[in-house]
Amino acid sequence: MIDLRSDTVTRPSEGMKAAMMRAEVGDDVWGDDPTVQRLQATVAERAGKEAGLFFPSGTQSNLAALMAHCARGDEYIVGQAAHTYKYEGGGAAVLGSIQPQPLENAADGSLPLEKIAAAIKPVDDHFARTRLLALENTIGGKVLPPAYVTDAVQLARQHGLATHLDGARVYNAAVASGQPVGALTAPFDTVSICFSKGLGAPVGSVLVGSRELIERAHRWRKVLGGGMRQAGVLAAACLYALEHNVDRLAEDHANAAHLAAGLAGIDQVTVQSQATNMVFAQFPKEDCAPLEAWLKERGILTQMLYASRFVTHLDVSRADIDTFIAAVKGYFAR
Ligand SMILES: *Cc1c(COP(=O)(O)O)cnc(C)c1O
Repeated sequence: MIDLRSDTVTRPSEGMKAAMMRAEVGDDVWGDDPTVQRLQATVAERAGKEAGLFFPSGTQSNLAALMAHCARGDEYIVGQAAHTYKYEGGGAAVLGSIQPQPLENAADGSLPLEKIAAAIKPVDDHFARTRLLALENTIGGKVLPPAYVTDAVQLARQHGLATHLDGARVYNAAVASGQPVGALTAPFDTVSICFSKGLGAPVGSVLVGSRELIERAHRWRKVLGGGMRQAGVLAAACLYALEHNVDRLAEDHANAAHLAAGLAGIDQVTVQSQATNMVFAQFPKEDCAPLEAWLKERGILTQMLYASRFVTHLDVSRADIDTFIAAVKGYFAR
């Protein structure tokens, strides 16, 4: 099957599985797993932070970070479209007693500075205490403008706020902008990075930050049930991904551009945006369900909605994109 639904659908390669088989392990709840330690140190070093912490998922990594920054009754400023706010079951509020202050994202994914400034609450017992600004990079596939990130973080600092980056796809942002990942993570106090998206590992996220913040997140990871034992088998996949699957993200980005160009050539389709490994496009509403079924019969998995997202990844080739485009054309020509 050609699966364009998400970059989470990648399967571990033979090389990755071999690395997992060879992994040296120990009980990581006791801090005994040498492969987990190596992953945490490697990711922290590349991100320019003191420490790293391995999590089973990006959702848990983000939540533990928010809980490390904010106490009960504190507030974090976040985008309406941000994963931590919209797609994580409201975990910050539900499990962290942290009040979200969502703001409308601008078209480029940023949160306008004047809106951030206006949302920061004065110190007053009537208000939740505004503690944290959380951004996301990439967001909807888009790389946040670096000058914007600098300004937003500076604004947060001026008001005494900490900063967190949901960097689930920060390696896509780094490759797309030709910057070392450390340049994109440097402004933030904490950054969560996913290995189970375009990097192709089956599981895993690493949170990086200062030793003190990571120690706090470590306690919350245990509370949230994220303490894993011989997790080196998983960390080995992430280390393999760092070594083999970062530079090749450029191929996914080129394939997404190729996919967008193909769809743009079809009269019934409107391409809304393409950035890094994502393409958003609009189809006639009445065609969505039949087109999704048509594609599935031809071995292509999509999630065809009025505004559909197509995601490229290491299990999708240039030829697969051509097959997909030909199938969409075939549907409209039938
Ligand atoms: C996927 C994703 C997460 C969460 O990661 P999971 O491992 O699926 O829990 C967080 N943030 C963003 C931007 C993501 O795309």
